[in-house]
Amino acid sequence: MNNGIVSVPGRQNAAVQEYSAGSAGRIRLEAELDRMSAQLVEIPVIAGGRRIFTGRTREIRAPHDKSLLLGVYHEAGPAELQVALESSRQVAREWAQLPWEERAAVFLKAGALISDGYRYRLNAATMLGQSKNSLQAEIDSACETADFFTNNPAFAAAIYARQSASTSKEWNRLEYRPLEGFVYAVTPFNFTAIAANLPTAPALMGNVVMWKPASSSVLSNWYLAELYRLAGLPDGVINFLPGRAGEISDTLLSQHDFAGLHFTGSTAVFNSLWRGIGERLENYRTYPRIVGETGGKDFIFIHPDADFDSAIPLVIRGAFEYQGQKCSAASRLYVPKSAAKEILDRLVAETGRLKMGSPRDYGNFVNAVIDKAAFANITGYIEAARLDSECSIIAGGTCDDSLGWFIEPTIILASQPKARPMVEEIFGPVLTVYVYDDKDIDAAYRLVDETSPYALTGAVFARERVDIVKAISALSNAAGNLYINDKPTGAVVGRQPFGGARASGTNDKAGSELNLLRWVSARNIKENFLPQAGWEYDYMS
Ligand code: NAD
Repeated sequence: MNNGIVSVPGRQNAAVQEYSAGSAGRIRLEAELDRMSAQLVEIPVIAGGRRIFTGRTREIRAPHDKSLLLGVYHEAGPAELQVALESSRQVAREWAQLPWEERAAVFLKAGALISDGYRYRLNAATMLGQSKNSLQAEIDSACETADFFTNNPAFAAAIYARQSASTSKEWNRLEYRPLEGFVYAVTPFNFTAIAANLPTAPALMGNVVMWKPASSSVLSNWYLAELYRLAGLPDGVINFLPGRAGEISDTLLSQHDFAGLHFTGSTAVFNSLWRGIGERLENYRTYPRIVGETGGKDFIFIHPDADFDSAIPLVIRGAFEYQGQKCSAASRLYVPKSAAKEILDRLVAETGRLKMGSPRDYGNFVNAVIDKAAFANITGYIEAARLDSECSIIAGGTCDDSLGWFIEPTIILASQPKARPMVEEIFGPVLTVYVYDDKDIDAAYRLVDETSPYALTGAVFARERVDIVKAISALSNAAGNLYINDKPTGAVVGRQPFGGARASGTNDKAGSELNLLRWVSARNIKENFLPQAGWEYDYMS
C-alpha cells in the first residue's frame, strides 16, 4: 500500500568525465576496452526474458579496425517475434498497473548504475563498436543515456499531475493509460542514448515494447538490454530483437495490437514504415501513434559582424565530431562575401590539424565512419563533387578503407547555393560552404530556409541583438533546434528538447514531456457525487 504522494529526483544532468591521461576514469575505461577487445561476445535475442541463440548470426567488427572481431549476434526470426509478442501480451497488464513510481524506479536505478561504473562498459562498447572517441562516447552512452533515465521520470510525474478541474458535487480525474497494444521501437546506430530512450520512454509510461536495434550498434545496445535486467525490468516489457529490418517490420506492423512506432533514422525508412502502417490501418485496434526523428541538412550561418574567433572552432566541432554522423551535425555553412577569404583560410588550416584514427588513440579527433555502406555513400558524394563544375574540394577529400572506414574531414566550396552537397544529407565528415552576398542578408536567410527539405538544427553566429532577432524570426521554420553563437550539436536532455519538422520528423522533442505524452492515452473519469432524482428540468415548469 502506498499512501504517500511520491516524488522522484528532480531534473539533473550527469557530469561529463574527460578521461585525461592518468585519471582514474581513464584507467577503468582502458581496462574495459582491453577486456572487450580480447573477448568474443555472443549476443542472443531476448524475447520474453528468454535468451535465444537462433543460429542465424552476424559478425560485429570495429569500424576503425576491420580485423578486430568483437563478437557475433543472433538474429530474431518469426519464431522469436512470436515469443516476444506472446510474452509482452502476458505482462502488459501487470506492467501497466504497477504504480508509475515503481516503473520509474527501474529506470532511475539504471541511471544510477551508469553513474556508478556501468558507464565504462557502455562507453567501451560504443568506442569499439561504433568508433566514437572517449569524449563522444562519454557524452552519449554515459551522460545522455543516464540523463534520459533520470529526467524522464520527472517529466512523467509532471504529466500525471495534470488533472481536470472538479467541483464540490463532481469529481474529475484524468488517468494516463498506456497505449492499447505494443510499441515498436526502431533505433539508429549513431547514438547509444537514442537506442536507450526509444524503447524506455514508452516503457516508463506503462507500455510494452518490441525493440529493433540497428545492426551496426548491437554491441552497445546489448549492454543496454543487460542494464535493464540488472535494474529489475520485468521479462517481456522490452524485447531485444536484432535482425533483418524489413522482415521484423512486416511481422510487427501486421499485428492487430500494434499501437505505436518510436523511430529514429533516415527519412526514407521512416516514410516506408509510415506507408506500411497506412496500408494496414483497418487491421489495428486503435490508431497507432507515429513518432519519427529523421534526417537533417543542418546549417551554420555566419553573420558579417560575428566573432570569427569563436565561430570557426565551433564550426569544426559541429561539422566533424563523430565524423559528421550526428543528425544535428553542421553540413552546410554560409559565410559572408566580405569575410570569406579570412574565414575559409582559417577553416581550411584548422581542418588540416584534425587527427584521424582509432578511438583508442586519445589524440584523434575523428575516427572511422560506421560501415562499408556509409563509406561508399560518403565517398560517392566526394567523388561526385570532384567532377561537379559547381563544386571544388578545398580541404580533405581522401578516403582509405584498408584498415577501417576512414574518410578525411572534407570541405567543399559550392559556387551555387543549391549545388547537390548543399541540399542532400550526406551523413559523414563533409561540410559544404556557400559564400553569400552580405549586401542582402534577408535573401541569404531565404536561401537557408528554402535550400533543403529538412529542418532539424541550425546555428547563427552574430553579434548585434537586432541581427540575432532578425535571424530567429527569418529562420523560424528552418530548424527545430536553433543555436545562437553555438554549434548546432550537443543537445542536452531537459535543456534543449530535441527534434525537427519538415522532412526531419514529427518534432516530438526527445528529452521532454512532449515526447512522453505520445505514449499515453488519456481517460477522464467523471464521478457525480449527488445524482438528481427525476428527469424533469426546472425550466419545464
Ligand atoms: P537508417 O534509417 O538506415 O536505420 C535506422 C533504423 O531503421 C535501423 O535500426 C535500421 O535497421 C532500421 N531500418 C532500416 N530499414 C528498415 C526497414 N525497411 N524497416 C524497418 N526498419 C528499418 O538510419 P541510420 O543509418 O541508423 O542513422 C542515420 C540516419 O538517422 C540519418 O538520416 C540521421 O539524420 C538520422 N538520425 C536522426 C536523428 C534525429 O533525432 N532526427 C537522430 C539520429 C539519427
